[in-house]
Amino acid sequence: MIFTHATILTMNPKREIVENGAIRVKGDRITAIGKTTELVTDHPDDDTINLSGHIVMPGLIDTHVHTAQCMLRGISECGTVGEFSNWLFGRIFPLQGSYTEEDALASASLCVLEMLKSGTTGFVECLLAERYGIDAIAELCVESGIRAALGKVVMDVSPATRDKLGWHHGMWQTRESAIEGTLAAHDTWDGAGDGRLQIWFGCRSAEPANNPSLFREVSDLAQEREMGLTIHLAELPHDNDYAREHGYRTHVEFAQGHGLLGERIVLAHCTIADDGDIQLLAEPSTSVSHNAGNNAAAAWGPARVTDMLDAGVNVSIGCDGAPTNANMDLLRDLRIACHTARQRAGNRSALTSETVLEMATLNGARALGIHSYAGSLEVGKKADFITIDTDAPHLQPVWNPVATAVFAAQGGDVDTVVIDGQIIMRKRQVLTMDEEAILDNVRGRFRDVAYRAGVEGLTSAWPSV
Ligand SMILES: [Zn+2]
Repeated sequence: MIFTHATILTMNPKREIVENGAIRVKGDRITAIGKTTELVTDHPDDDTINLSGHIVMPGLIDTHVHTAQCMLRGISECGTVGEFSNWLFGRIFPLQGSYTEEDALASASLCVLEMLKSGTTGFVECLLAERYGIDAIAELCVESGIRAALGKVVMDVSPATRDKLGWHHGMWQTRESAIEGTLAAHDTWDGAGDGRLQIWFGCRSAEPANNPSLFREVSDLAQEREMGLTIHLAELPHDNDYAREHGYRTHVEFAQGHGLLGERIVLAHCTIADDGDIQLLAEPSTSVSHNAGNNAAAAWGPARVTDMLDAGVNVSIGCDGAPTNANMDLLRDLRIACHTARQRAGNRSALTSETVLEMATLNGARALGIHSYAGSLEVGKKADFITIDTDAPHLQPVWNPVATAVFAAQGGDVDTVVIDGQIIMRKRQVLTMDEEAILDNVRGRFRDVAYRAGVEGLTSAWPSV
């Protein structure tokens, strides 16, 4: 198959943009990339898909996602949320802790569908709880065609701490069972879907609730099994207080002392990282997921993203959770990342559309450990790409296709998605999922979850009449 007549952002080492370009795909790989006339002449018997007017680029990789939270879209904007701990223990945990496996699958299906429809071809799930039903969610990822690193929750919160904090029982399990469940999921699912699926460890945060010895054990196990690990880190203003209580200067230094920095580790947020922290993050090539949209909505940060990039930290982009950030539309969050970095620096060149697109593709692939075969469009790499149809008033004219993709396009402009050489979406129709059934399922159950959880006030501040 040859995809023809497109403007191709290859993201190859020279960052070449091929005008009137074509990509030849055989099996799961790109076998040729160049000018349309040349490829079509060289392979006259191949079928073709004409992508005239489309920008083609590598699939986007979202490195911080909570699939269980898509059914809670926008609830941070209902009534008064208050402090972070009220939000987490009073609202989010009771709701997610009341999920049945069917609820969790409904939410994850919605999340994966939304990601595919907005051009995300790979993602890191940070906190997949056992109560959600790991097998069905892993199966969903395999069947949908997406790439995923599913961070299975591990914790060590004593029953006394759990009850003191009001940590919902439905979100709790013992350290032993959490680790066992993760290793079992790894045995069963890691490498499924022709290698598209990975099972990681998912830690909520280095926080007072958790016994800190958990982190070293999990880090050692991750190394032993060559598994990834993800955790929220240096996220909240008080995170350094916790580190100081344990004899460390900062949360990042605490992470270093507990085996939480390194190549296969993705740290979400890092909004309070200082100069010393940034050096530590750069040295062992830790990945940081910059959650610009969510942080701005929650009034955290802004993270020192340009300083981290300058220091050599592998910074990627994540949408985080739908309660606060509303959408899993990475294109939108690329724009927010640029805007907020520029505002912070007082410099409109602080973060360019070119750099932020590298973060969402090349850096994202590195975070997932798949950079040897994904993240750019080159001969021999996997055929993972998306197309943006620029035949729309808000996308014309196209001066600089990178800026058009980052600053003008929205997730809804993604027309075609190809992963592992398979056409997953064509003309906005996802071929691997039943969109109507997924939407009906969510609409039919979201209020029941709130009722079961006993959480009230999930409405507008304005009266419903
Ligand atoms: Zn998060």
